[in-house]
Amino acid sequence: MMPVVALVGRPNVGKSTLFNRLTRTRDALVADFPGLTRDRKYGQAKIGELEFIVVDTGGIDGSEEGIELKMAEQSLAAIDEADVVLFMVDARAGLTVADEAIAHHLRRCEKQTLLVANKTDGIDADSAVSEFYLLGLGDIYQIAAAHGRGVLSLLETALAPQLEALNATRHEAESEADEQPDEEFDFDELGLADAMEAMDRLEEEEAVPFEDLPIKLAIVGRPNVGKSTLTNRILGEERVVVYDMPGTTRDSIYIPMQRDERDFILIDTAGVRRRGKVHETVEKFSVIKTLKAIEDANVVLLVLDAREGISDQDLSLLGFVLNAGRSIVVAVNKWDGLSQDVKDDIKRELDRRLGFIDFARLHFISALHGSGVGNLFGSVVEAYQSATKRVSTSMLTRIMQMAQDDHQPPLVRGRRVKLKYAHAGGYNPPRIIVHGNQVKDLPDSYKRYLINYFRRSLQIMGTPIRVEFQEGD
Ligand code: GDP
Ligand code: GDP
Repeated sequence: MMPVVALVGRPNVGKSTLFNRLTRTRDALVADFPGLTRDRKYGQAKIGELEFIVVDTGGIDGSEEGIELKMAEQSLAAIDEADVVLFMVDARAGLTVADEAIAHHLRRCEKQTLLVANKTDGIDADSAVSEFYLLGLGDIYQIAAAHGRGVLSLLETALAPQLEALNATRHEAESEADEQPDEEFDFDELGLADAMEAMDRLEEEEAVPFEDLPIKLAIVGRPNVGKSTLTNRILGEERVVVYDMPGTTRDSIYIPMQRDERDFILIDTAGVRRRGKVHETVEKFSVIKTLKAIEDANVVLLVLDAREGISDQDLSLLGFVLNAGRSIVVAVNKWDGLSQDVKDDIKRELDRRLGFIDFARLHFISALHGSGVGNLFGSVVEAYQSATKRVSTSMLTRIMQMAQDDHQPPLVRGRRVKLKYAHAGGYNPPRIIVHGNQVKDLPDSYKRYLINYFRRSLQIMGTPIRVEFQEGD
C-alpha cells in the first residue's frame, strides 16, 4: 500500500514549493470538498520504484483560537492519516512562536516526524538551524526545496522502511527469476512464426487464473453522491459475509460478497459497515482513503451525482484512476425523479466532459430506489476481464499487422517506420509492447490510432491500455 507523507508547517515555509517538486507534472487533487474547511492538496509522487502520496496540509500557524482552532484541528486530523510527517521550518526566518505551537501538537500525536529546515541555500545553514534543536524533535534535515537540494536524502530517510520492503520483494522476485532463466528467442534462426509460437507456449505456462480471483471493486466519489446508499443497496440484495476488520480511520472496509457465482471484494470507502468503537475522524470523507482504495482495486466504480453535474473533483478522481491504470465503471446516481429535458441536458454534459474516457461504461442509476444497480455488475466483470485478458503474441502481431495494412506508418527521414511484432507486457492495465524499426519516431497520432485499433479488435472495455514501443527485435 502506498505510504502517505504529510507536509506540515506555518504559512510561507515552503510547503507548496516542496509539494510541487515532489509531485512534478502529476495532477494535484485539491481538496475543497464540502465538509473540509481548509484546502489540502494531495498528489502522487515517486522515489525510485516507490510511489507515495504527498499531502500539503495547508498553513497552520499554531495561534488559532475559536473557530480557527477547530479548523486547525481538522488540518491536524490529516496528520492522523499520514505515515510520516515532514515538519517544515524556515531556516532564514528562524524559530517562531508558531513553530513551537505546531511542534507541541506534533509531539502529542506520536507520529514519526522529521524536522525539516528549508531555505538553507546561500546562508550559513549549520548555524542558522541550530536554534531549531530547541523544538525537541531531534535531527534537523537541511533542504532547499526551491532547488531540490537535500530532498532526495530526506525522503530516503523518511521512507526508509517502505523502500527496504520494496527492495526485499524485488530481490525475491529476481531470485525466482534466476531459477527460471528467461528463454531467449533467436528470431532469425527460429523464424518469426516458430518464435511466436514458442513465446505463446511460455505465456500460457505462466498464466495466473485471473478468473478464480475475487474482483476488488472500490466504490468512490465525492461526499453525498450516494456511495453509502449504493453500498447498502448492493449489500442488501446479496448474501454478505461481514466481518469487522481492525484498522485506522484511513482504511476502507473490505467486504467479501458473491454475485452470480462470482466472488467480489467490495472496498467500501464510505464506511457503511464500520461498527463498534473505532475512532471516528472529524470528517467522514477522506481523500487518502479514496486514493488508497483506488490503488488497491481492480475496478473502480466512480459515483457521480446527476443533480450536481461533473465537478473538478470528479475529474481529479477520474484522473487518479486512469493514472493508476485501474479499470473504471461510471455510475450517474440520483437518476430518479428527473424530467426528460433535464436528463437530456445531463447526458449532453457527460458526453462533452467525459469524451476522454469513451471506453468506460456509463450507467444511470438510482441507489435510493435500486433501478439500474443490478446492471452495474455486468460492466464491472467486463472491465475486469478486459484488464486481465490473455492475448497471445501471434494474435497481437496479427492485429498490429492489420492496423499497419489499413493505414501505413509514416515515413521518417525518408524511411518508413516498420512494425514487426507485438506481445503482451502485463495486465491490470493491459500493456502491449510493439517492436519495430524507428518506432521511437512514430507520431502520437499514429500511436493513438494503434491503441484504438487494439482496443476495438480485442474488445477491451472499461480499462486503459498502455502501448509501449521498442526499437528492433
Ligand atoms: P507555503 O506557504 O509553506 O506553501 O510556502 P511556499 O512554498 O509558497 O513558499 C513561500 C516562499 O518561500 C516562496 O516565495 C518561495 O519561493 C520561497 N521558498 C520556498 N523554498 C525555498 C528555498 O528552498 N529557498 C529559498 N530561498 N526560498 C524558498
Ligand atoms: P455518500 O456521502 O456518498 O455516502 O452519500 P449518501 O449515500 O450518504 O447519500 C447522500 C444523500 O443523497 C442522502 O440524503 C441520500 O438519501 C441521497 N441519495 C443517495 N442516493 C440517491 C438516489 O439515488 N436518489 C436520490 N434522490 N437521493 C439519493
